Amino acid sequence: MRFGTMKGCLRKQWACIVLGVFALLMAAPAWADPQQVLSAIDGNSANYRGVSQKIFDFKELGQQEFKSSQLLMEELRRLGFTVTGDLKVPADLVKDGISKTGFRAEMRGKGLGPTVTIMLEYDALKNGHACGHNLIATSGLMAAAGLAGIMKETPGRILVIGTPDEERGSLGGGKVALLEGGHFDGTDVVLITHGFDRWTVDQRVLAMKRATFVFKGKSAHAAQAPHKGINALRGAIFTFNGVDMLREHIRQDVRIHGIIKKGGDMVNVVPELAEAEFAVRALDTGTMESVYQKVVNCARAAELATGAKLEFSEPRVSLKAPIIIPTYTKMVIDQVRALGIPDTEIKDQEDFASSDLGNVGYTFPTVNLWFKIAPEGTALHSDAFRGYAGSEDGWKATVIAAKAIALTAYDLLTHPDKVKEIQDKFKELKAKEGK
Ligand SMILES: [Zn+2]
Repeated sequence: MRFGTMKGCLRKQWACIVLGVFALLMAAPAWADPQQVLSAIDGNSANYRGVSQKIFDFKELGQQEFKSSQLLMEELRRLGFTVTGDLKVPADLVKDGISKTGFRAEMRGKGLGPTVTIMLEYDALKNGHACGHNLIATSGLMAAAGLAGIMKETPGRILVIGTPDEERGSLGGGKVALLEGGHFDGTDVVLITHGFDRWTVDQRVLAMKRATFVFKGKSAHAAQAPHKGINALRGAIFTFNGVDMLREHIRQDVRIHGIIKKGGDMVNVVPELAEAEFAVRALDTGTMESVYQKVVNCARAAELATGAKLEFSEPRVSLKAPIIIPTYTKMVIDQVRALGIPDTEIKDQEDFASSDLGNVGYTFPTVNLWFKIAPEGTALHSDAFRGYAGSEDGWKATVIAAKAIALTAYDLLTHPDKVKEIQDKFKELKAKEGK
């Protein structure tokens, strides 16, 4: 009995040891303290404020952001990133096939893990940094600086991609070219920020594709021999009428807007050439594509009805809409709340926009954190917004935005299960689009 008890005791001890080892193996590994990320950001904030101000003063337009991109590359090299400039991209999107103001910076951590990509934008408008891209660049740079200090003890990889030419993005100069050039390859999830009049992760990014319809008819004297002519302008007008009939049966977020670029030269001559341009937009890429085909059908019907020959080919580039993963956006906004932004400052979007950001968000799970630098109602691209993009209060919000995305990145790097969950949801939602 006594012996038996001893044996039972030993067995229990073994069970305890096995359980203990198992518990140790199962417990979350001891990664770096995320507080270090925040301290590194706070400690370097003054330096990065200077970087932001320089980019603000450079105010370089798309594809001419030489000084801004050089400055950012230097800063990233100083942090220990491996930086590559002059990125090869498709030659039909960017002249000579080299994105001279785009760059890719990489830092590997300790062992295998997810790849978190942070995007920087730094192009200005004709009225300077009225969209605050100087703050996108420096918030991303600060997040990278915060993470650089702990990557030696953190699994995975950080990619920082400098994406130029956002403002003219529909031409395919920025993110579209870098995506096609393979510079996002290996990315698991993406983060970016944007200054705004509120804090939000609510995205109202519309997919967009343009269509140019050229109608070729036959000129004739409009009064003397109209029966000998074919009116190309009628082709354009018929297209507009068809599109207007479509509107009765499209979802509320769909936008179709067109102009007539050419419609004849003289009133007494039947127009032999007409040209109409349309843009079709919707909150998801699948819906945009299906409405787009209906718009093209309107032009085809116009050709049939008028006899004016239609010339049309789909554009090389279209803008896509990001696929929104609620659990991923929540991770970011939860960090914003934890950093002290009150709920009253966090609001949904009201307006729609299109951006090449959508093409990244259609390819990889992406969150864009809009952060409040201006009073509510201040329009992007206005001179007033430019003022806030260079202001002290604007900078304070930028630091918080940098912290929020850095902490989210840290969470993702140390939790591959969360990344997998986000990616699975992304695939599921993408498959359902437009259906
Ligand atoms: Zn912008």
